Amino acid sequence: MKVDLRKIRDEAHGKYPDQREYLQVVESFLDKIDDFVQKNSEFQNVAIIRRMLEPDRIIDFRISWLNGEGKEELHRGYRVQFNRSLGPYKGGFRFHPSVNLSVLKFLGFEQSLKNSLTGLQLGAGKGGSDFNPSEYSEEDVMRFCQAFAAQFFHYSDIDSDVPAGDIGVGEREIGYIFGFTNMLKRQFDGSYTGKNFYSGGSRLRPESTGYGCLYFAEQLLKDVGYDAEGAKVNISGSGNVAIFACEKAMELGMKVQTLSDSGGVVYCEGGFTKKMFKFVKEHKLKNRGRIEEFAKRFDLEFSEDKKPWDYSCKLAIPCATQNELERSDAVTLVENDCFALLEGANMPCTNDAVQYFLENGVAYVPGKASNAGGVSVSAFEMTQNRLGYKWTKEKVDSRLRKTMKYIYSECSNYGGKINGHTNFVKGANTAGFVRLYRAMTNQGVL
Ligand code: NDP
Repeated sequence: MKVDLRKIRDEAHGKYPDQREYLQVVESFLDKIDDFVQKNSEFQNVAIIRRMLEPDRIIDFRISWLNGEGKEELHRGYRVQFNRSLGPYKGGFRFHPSVNLSVLKFLGFEQSLKNSLTGLQLGAGKGGSDFNPSEYSEEDVMRFCQAFAAQFFHYSDIDSDVPAGDIGVGEREIGYIFGFTNMLKRQFDGSYTGKNFYSGGSRLRPESTGYGCLYFAEQLLKDVGYDAEGAKVNISGSGNVAIFACEKAMELGMKVQTLSDSGGVVYCEGGFTKKMFKFVKEHKLKNRGRIEEFAKRFDLEFSEDKKPWDYSCKLAIPCATQNELERSDAVTLVENDCFALLEGANMPCTNDAVQYFLENGVAYVPGKASNAGGVSVSAFEMTQNRLGYKWTKEKVDSRLRKTMKYIYSECSNYGGKINGHTNFVKGANTAGFVRLYRAMTNQGVL
């Protein structure tokens, strides 16, 4: 039977014409599963696919708070509870001025496929606010987080909705939100992950997304017989994901040449030294400094106009934000003989850029596969909290490796080949889709 998935795409365009990021992910998903759906009658219930693309519920709230100068501030908060078929809603909060419903729906849908792909019992959600922590004092960040928690605490719960961090939300923000939630609820239920270790967080949660991405890369290089030692790697961003991707890449003997932030990119021919990395890790994650200051400190090339993709590399790992890598960047990377691109961020490559990579023999790995290490360790954190256990770093690391290996094999099983490589994007979308579809079918019309 021929199933027309274009109708679902057209319907989304008709209903949400202004939601650019959401429509981008809907189009990409439908395109990638089309071939599989046409060939497999079990997966041809269009109503389920339609429902999969529509969030269960959207919680939208006002956050009013008094800043340190006694002035009233106003922000908007959201939680998109996307899909509960595989477990409690799970996915981070993002605090950034660019946060809106289109961005959160795109992230929520991606999260539903990613969480499914891990094989773990995780539903999907995403949320956040247009608040920008980098513009406020430490005390104001706490005030805002408490006002946010005061509006949201009814909804977070270990069995129904377990948020975590994302852009602008790290251990500090999670700590303030979690603490205030516990105070209001008069309980301690582990309803957030990404917590500080002493508040019940998991060992290796901060490292997990970046490390997981490199475990995936290691497997990919091994499969094609390519040596990780000495491979040139360009990374964008210098937040949580980028810094730990850099750390693991350097541990594997790779030469990391770039990091960036919204102010520009730093380039080091031959790769950062251990001394440079030690400085930049503390400078960015602890002191919240700028990349330009890091470049100045070590007399490295810094550019406000260039992107990491302008420099030649074997592996490109975008770890900043959505749509940061366009078709023209993909062309430059291919010209410079880039072998693989692994997404540390969520949807950093535009659909045109992805198409160009696939057509030109670059092994392209979408974020729902390569950055799934973070949510996997969040699932381990939930398990530890439920059982009252504390796993060692070694145990978490070994489980993270196993999960990334599992995701890699799922991509290979469902992806087939394209231009000499596994079609990871088809594999990741299809494998995530299959598990979610089966659970939704099993649970009836909800
Ligand atoms: P952080 O806030 O810690 O870091 C984000 C980094 O990206 C910062 O260096 C920021 O620079 C930079 N950045 C943001 N916007 C831009 C831009 N427009 N141009 C250039 N640089 C930019 O976030 P995370 O590291 O946690 O998240 C990064 C990405 O990874 C996001 O897409 C997120 O959804 C994804 N992700 C994160 C996970 C996690 O565990 N944290 C899990 C899975 C995916 P500046 O400081 O100047 O803003």
